Amino acid sequence: MITRKQSPTKARLYFKVSKGYVLCGVCERRCLIGPGEKGYCGNRVNIGGELYNIGYGVLSAVESRPIEIKPLFHFWPNSTALTFSGWSCNFHCPWCQNFTLSFNTPSTNEQYYVPPEKLVEKAIRNGDEGLCASFNEPTIHLEYLVDAFREAKKHGLYNTIVSNGYMTLDALKELREAGLDGLNFDIKGCRETYKKFIGALDPMVVFRNARVALDLGIHVEMVFLVVTGANDYSECYEWVLEKHIEILGYDVPLHINRYYPSWKYHEPPTSLKTLFEIYEKAKEYGIRYVYVGNIGDPKYETTYCPRCGKPLIARSGYRVIYYKLTKNGRCPYCGFKINIVGKYIPNKGLSFII
Ligand code: SF4
Repeated sequence: MITRKQSPTKARLYFKVSKGYVLCGVCERRCLIGPGEKGYCGNRVNIGGELYNIGYGVLSAVESRPIEIKPLFHFWPNSTALTFSGWSCNFHCPWCQNFTLSFNTPSTNEQYYVPPEKLVEKAIRNGDEGLCASFNEPTIHLEYLVDAFREAKKHGLYNTIVSNGYMTLDALKELREAGLDGLNFDIKGCRETYKKFIGALDPMVVFRNARVALDLGIHVEMVFLVVTGANDYSECYEWVLEKHIEILGYDVPLHINRYYPSWKYHEPPTSLKTLFEIYEKAKEYGIRYVYVGNIGDPKYETTYCPRCGKPLIARSGYRVIYYKLTKNGRCPYCGFKINIVGKYIPNKGLSFII
């Protein structure tokens, strides 16, 4: 890793408007940024009528982590990804668990700078199978992701992101072209959730992007963090389940996660009763792979065959403890084809990570 002064990097995807203003085309906020001003995320600055990324390679965390913790349960099971994050975010969710890095913006002073080649070198040294951009919103660092993903591909690694899914289609396509293989999108709830807590944004953008990602050949999983008093009522979660099926179909895994109080939001943790109700409802609706996360119960972290109901992949502590698929990803009992991408990595413990 290298620490040095890093110059702002010319941004991708922006358009000059007039009087020195520029329009950022990375996320659907589409900030109009005047000379000397920053966009909403604080990561993109208009310098002399051009847009620059001031956070290129300025990382807030780098560590090897299990792919199951993202969560990505149907992608390279039991592998590890070198997980990295920058600073700031284009959302300000009041219950953010990562608020210390999501709500701090990078400065242009001396920084902890990690060039893409060094990041990939570290992944290879750690024995990781891939990269994962996570913690804060990765796409606001589009320029760095493109360079890091291209570098990773040269060395046969996979690339993933954990995202709020609010990027533009142009940004999504750039990531795919750079080698994005898998992603996890966090759906925050229904329209009312976005209106009240996320600044009047449109949840349909997230479903649109997930659909386009599938069509581009990217592996997709969805997370629905059920937050007490925000999105835990039936009209809201039923809307989420209906859109999941209508737009993404039955095969895209859905992780129903428990919330715990954080940052500015202090309601009690999500009731288990509500989580299990949503789980049952999702199964009833026909979603084939449904999980309940953040409750530490392996029963709800197991993949069952959608046809014969046999347990096929069991997980505990974010590791695979039982794996029973055929080489071509089918149920060995009834032959049903399971939605699974990449290779299973057996015998990979966590001793070198923690
Ligand atoms: S990436 Fe940042 S500057 Fe660009 S539109 Fe989104 S919030 Fe605004």
